[in-house]
Order: sequence, then structure tokens, then C-alpha cells
Amino acid sequence: MSAADRTAVVTGASSGIGAATARQLAEAGYRVVLTARRKDRVETLAAELTAAGHRAEAYALDVTDRAAVDAFAASLDRYPSVDVLINNAGGALGTEPVAEGDPADWRAMYEVNVLGVLHMTQALLPALRASGDGTVLILTSTAGHAAYEGGGGYVAAKHAAHTIAATLRLELVGEPIRVIEIAPGMVKTEGFALTRMRGDESKAEAVYAGVRSPLTADDVADTITWAITRPSHVNIDLLVVRPRAQAANHKVHRES
Ligand code: NAP
Repeated sequence: MSAADRTAVVTGASSGIGAATARQLAEAGYRVVLTARRKDRVETLAAELTAAGHRAEAYALDVTDRAAVDAFAASLDRYPSVDVLINNAGGALGTEPVAEGDPADWRAMYEVNVLGVLHMTQALLPALRASGDGTVLILTSTAGHAAYEGGGGYVAAKHAAHTIAATLRLELVGEPIRVIEIAPGMVKTEGFALTRMRGDESKAEAVYAGVRSPLTADDVADTITWAITRPSHVNIDLLVVRPRAQAANHKVHRES
């Protein structure tokens, strides 16, 4: 099946990596369904893509709300098929050490980064299976593969998201569904550091201070689009992508 017949659902498409991925998949010929809580943002991007001749629709959705996710999944029967699910919605809250972390922050990170992925994947799996050639992509992080001080609940949640990908791949083997994990390192996006630093712009900017060329949302969208557009029998199990200036979560070269 060519991209022209295919539909991709992207979570967290209102900002950063999700928005860039929706744009690149639309440019690759997919019909894209952009979802996020901020309805105005996904509607604006979908309108922009439609005006450029692509097929894009917006849907306001909180991935932590199971009833809303089920209603969204039911609404997808208007498309000929649902072929790709990009589980991108997520993020971090705080940089406190484990000893001082707020359980409410840990719970919130688990809700979006883990249960959000679970809700979306469970709800869309029947349609992905019915497509005869489905793909579930989970955007984890290098925080899902190694701990770092202050990573706390985000590291724990992304490790869990990694485990969903690894387990699902085992459980679905033999079915026409690929399970792909993309694990980026440092990406300078619109919202990630600002959310983590609870809206403090100077602390958010300091995350990238002196780092020459952190990854951009487009860089990660490019790896996602590449993985999705491989032939159906090629499953990119796990792709770790970092900027050249970062050799490990805690090993970042800063020039000033
Ligand atoms: P971002 O600009 O803050 O985007 C986060 C997106 O997630 C937004 O579109 C947001 O939309 C959405 N979102 C958050 N909570 C949601 C919820 N409950 N339901 C639905 N959507 C929700 O950050 P980003 O850097 O692009 O992050 C995208 C993904 O990449 C996340 O999973 C993040 O953990 C991961 N990642 C980021 C980096 C990095 O350094 N930036 C590195 C590795 C992995 P609304 O607020 O409109 O709902």
C-alpha cells in the first residue's frame, strides 16, 4: 500500500516533535490525524497542511483520559484504514533528586508517558491489525535507557515506555504490525524544557546553554519518518539519536 492510501495518527501534535512529525508524514503523503489537548494548535496546523494540499485533520485529545481515547478510536472508522500510530505525547516535570521528588509529579509523568501510550495502543490496535500492515511507534528517550541524577520520575516513566515497546513486539510477532521505538537524546523543542522547568524560561534556556546544535524537532521527525517509510518487513526495533555534542545523558559538551 502506498502512503497515499494510509492514515497516521500522531499524539502530541500541537508542539515540538509531534508537530514536526505530523508535517513530515503529511509531506510523505500520509493522511495525518493530529491530536493534542490544545485544540487551537492542532486545528491551526491541520489547516495549514490542508492549505498546502496535504490531508490533515485535528482532534482534541488528552491521552490520559481513557474514555476520550476510546471515543477517538471509534471516530476513526470514517477512514479506509488506520495504519500508523505515533505515540509521541509526553514530557518531564521537575529535576529533583529521588529523595525530594513530588509523588504527584511522578504520577503525572507516568500517566502521560506510560498510560497514555497504553491507552492509545490498546484502543487503536484492532484498527492497526485490520489494516493488514500497521505500525506502532513509541517515542521514548535516552532517559528510557540510562539513569541520570535528577532524572527521577521521567527516567522511570520512559523506562516503562521502553518496556511497553519491547513487550508488545514480542507479543505481536507473527502479526502484520511493526513496533518501533525511537529514543532521542537532547532535543531543543518548544515545550520540553519549559514544561520540565515549570514555565521558568531562564532555567529552560539553561538546559541548552553552550551546546552547539542540539537536535531539533525536525531532526527527530526525520528519523521517525524514515523508520515508518521502510518497507513493511523492516522493523526498526530501536533507534537512539543524539546530537553530536552529547555522548551520554550526563556527558554533554558545552562551549561556554
Ligand atoms: P513539547 O514541545 O513539550 O511537546 C509535547 C507534546 O505532548 C505537546 O504537543 C503536548 O500537547 C503533548 N501532550 C502533553 N501531555 C499530553 C496529554 N496528556 N495528552 C495529549 N497530549 C499531551 O515536547 P517535545 O520535546 O516535542 O516532546 C515530545 C516527546 O518527545 C515527549 O514524549 C518527550 O518525552 C520526548 N522526548 C523529548 C526530548 C527532548 O529533549 N525534547 C528528548 C527525548 C524524548 P498539549 O499540551 O497540547 O496536549
